[in-house]
Amino acid sequence: MTDAVTFRGVSRHFGSVKAVDAVDLSIRDGEFFAMLGPSGSGKTTCLRLIAGFEQPDAGHIAIFGEAAEGVPPYRRNVNTVFQSYALFPHMNVRDNVAFGLRVRGIGRAARHRAAEEALAQVELAGFGGRRAGELSGGQRQRVALARALINKPRVVLLDEPLGALDLKLREQMQEELRSLQRTLGLTFVFVTHDQDEALSMADRIAVFAEGRIRQVGSAEDIYRRPSSRFVADFVGSSNVLPADLAGAGPAGRWASLRPEDVLLDPAGREATVTARAFHGRVTKLTLDFGGQALIALVPAREAVPEPGATARISWDPARVHVMEPGA
Ligand code: ATP
Repeated sequence: MTDAVTFRGVSRHFGSVKAVDAVDLSIRDGEFFAMLGPSGSGKTTCLRLIAGFEQPDAGHIAIFGEAAEGVPPYRRNVNTVFQSYALFPHMNVRDNVAFGLRVRGIGRAARHRAAEEALAQVELAGFGGRRAGELSGGQRQRVALARALINKPRVVLLDEPLGALDLKLREQMQEELRSLQRTLGLTFVFVTHDQDEALSMADRIAVFAEGRIRQVGSAEDIYRRPSSRFVADFVGSSNVLPADLAGAGPAGRWASLRPEDVLLDPAGREATVTARAFHGRVTKLTLDFGGQALIALVPAREAVPEPGATARISWDPARVHVMEPGA
């Protein structure tokens, strides 16, 4: 099957800033793909390159196998969902959704029909006559999506679409977006700096740093088998320790061990508790393990030793992931 989007050696530099630097990337048709990374790592620039708002300085982009060079944004089979505050509050929902068609000179009846169809796709049939300003945050978000869907794209680009929402609505919209994407069967490319959001929503995640992709994989790959210290630290918190100390590999290599995988075990090895913090569902223990700082997340129902006391700990060696050489 042809991939939805491919990058081969794509770079986009702004003066001395290597916003996107020699990136190779394949996004499969129909997948929910997240671009995750810290601020300034090049995610938005990648999205703009796919949309056609930016041109690469080097390399090649293809969309469904066709070279994107020289193809303007409106002919690319891709559409961007802008944050919901980009809606016109004084206009009704139908006119907001149909705005792009009006700009392109499409007649009123055809515009309205297309808008109603797009609204039905996001489960807002019958909302066309409402003013955008009267909608809830979640509804506005769906209108913003309908505004992209009206152009019948095969790839939908979303740049931090949930960034402006409060936590509860954000979690609800994550589920909604995910289920809409499944129902519509379209490719979604989603930019976020929130690891939990990427882990819970995406089929695959690309982790960006300084204009480069450090790792691409499923949520489980990225979380369980981070290729480098950067990915281990950025995606959730992790213990990074020498592989030989973790009992899992050769000296000179680093290993990642997630805090929830460090277990209290009377038959385990000795460590000293340096700090303890109650977090509701878990207790976070900071340990000194032979000079190496280690974090353990212990389920709240377990008794935990006091700071200064000795803790005995163990882990399943299968939970230790040895990272790439030099990582
Ligand atoms: P954020 O999460 O903060 O949006 P990002 O990962 O999306 O960050 P980009 O917006 O792609 O990062 O920016 C990557 C780098 O390129 C940054 O250093 C940014 O300042 C720079 N940059 C992006 N667009 C331009 C531009 N038009 N002119 C100059 N520099 C730019």
